[in-house]
Amino acid sequence: AKQEGRGRLRFYEARMGVQVRERRQIEHDLRHAVERGELQVVYQPQTRIDSGEAVGFEALLRWHHPERGIVPPNLFIPIAEETGSILGIGEWVLRETCREAVSWDKPLRIAVNVSAVQLHAPGFAELVHEILFATGLSPARLELEITETALIRDLPRALATLRRIKALGVRIAMDDFGTGYSSLSNLRAFPFDKIKIDASFTRAVDSSEQAATIVRTVLGLGRGLGLPVLAEGVETSAELAFLDAESCQEAQGYLIGRPGPIGGFQHLTAEHGKS
Ligand code: C2E
Ligand code: CA
Ligand code: CA
Ligand code: CA
Repeated sequence: AKQEGRGRLRFYEARMGVQVRERRQIEHDLRHAVERGELQVVYQPQTRIDSGEAVGFEALLRWHHPERGIVPPNLFIPIAEETGSILGIGEWVLRETCREAVSWDKPLRIAVNVSAVQLHAPGFAELVHEILFATGLSPARLELEITETALIRDLPRALATLRRIKALGVRIAMDDFGTGYSSLSNLRAFPFDKIKIDASFTRAVDSSEQAATIVRTVLGLGRGLGLPVLAEGVETSAELAFLDAESCQEAQGYLIGRPGPIGGFQHLTAEHGKS
């Protein structure tokens, strides 16, 4: 058994070695991903539940690695945050999406994810301002998605930055609501325009009374605070029917549309008749 244990340990160390090397390689490759044109933004529609009409898109990052293929954001964004690459990558995403959105016939919103590292970096509000100016996008069409976890690093600093961004006319959405902590005080203190209910709750509304209760409570909270609520991760018509019955304003999820290149959504961005 001891022998076996040692063997396992050696195997484990070897695997760790591979993981460390692989991670270093990813860190290195990430630093050049923007300039090599390996990043792509895909778009996922967000709709009003009562009318079914599209109100905007969330921009989601994809990395086409030359050898690894598509690397999912949940894998590379945490690494990019640790190494600081997220600053360049995040700026690229913001500029790319604003430039893209300006070209649409319809003034739909574009929601862009902002990492804690970006939010706390000096000059972030000024960067947002510069990008709006350079691309000519109307500030009201831009929505920044921020998680609670991104705020807590330095609450006063985050608040000051968000206020400056709000003053530009840009909207702020609280992302993944319900998965962090101190949600209620943050909702009150921060200038949010929207609450996004995390997919883990949405997914379970039709199977768990507990999840249904949580979603109803968040919707009540939104009504009380005058904040519209968007449910993420809507996959079934039963989930959508529940949200509709509970007067949830907006939805996003595979049922409505999977994230994809913007070209696939011309029926949403173009005026009728044009394409
Ligand atoms: P998120 O902000 O919560 O984005 C929603 C995620 O749920 C996306 O995963 C989306 O593809 C996925 N999704 C949408 N509808 C459904 C559904 O009906 N069912 C299921 N199972 N999933 C659905 P994705 O694109 O893999 O992104 C994962 C996370 O990576 C995002 O979570 C966000 O935290 C982060 N991320 C993506 N793009 C960016 C970016 O440009 N900047 C930053 N900082 N983070 C990003
Ligand atoms: Ca998001
Ligand atoms: Ca989310
Ligand atoms: Ca479900």
